[in-house]
Amino acid sequence: MSTLHDVGERDSWRCWLCDDPVDPDASVNADRGPSVDSGASSRGKAAASGAERLAHRACNTRKGKVAPVVAWSPDLLVVDPAPIVATVDRMRRKGGQEAVARCPSRADAEEAARWLLDRLSRFAPDLAVETQVTAGGGQYLLVLRER
Ligand SMILES: [Zn+2]
Repeated sequence: MSTLHDVGERDSWRCWLCDDPVDPDASVNADRGPSVDSGASSRGKAAASGAERLAHRACNTRKGKVAPVVAWSPDLLVVDPAPIVATVDRMRRKGGQEAVARCPSRADAEEAARWLLDRLSRFAPDLAVETQVTAGGGQYLLVLRER
């Protein structure tokens, strides 16, 4: 069991679920205060990076026993975006590749690809993946695949 400080340092004081900064000096009783989320370990296969992650108290999945949710940025133009947590779980188990969103233009798809890789570099730093954008049916498909 790591201390809150260890987990915070490892996650650079950023919440693993909402991706916003966490103030290390905030009260641990405040909604936006720091807490250790062990939600990752209850999901069967613990991530290689460690099952304990830093989360805002309000974002922490431990008490509510809800599955963690990672939201796509509202700034992206994506259609039918795949649930990020479930996609990461499957790719950890099986590798391969998965279509994760459709976009109206190549620029939108490339922006979504950049955002997703950056997001995953913190959410699932152990996962070695790359993105691919393919045109088809007047849309652009964003694919995440094993590297
Ligand atoms: Zn948060």
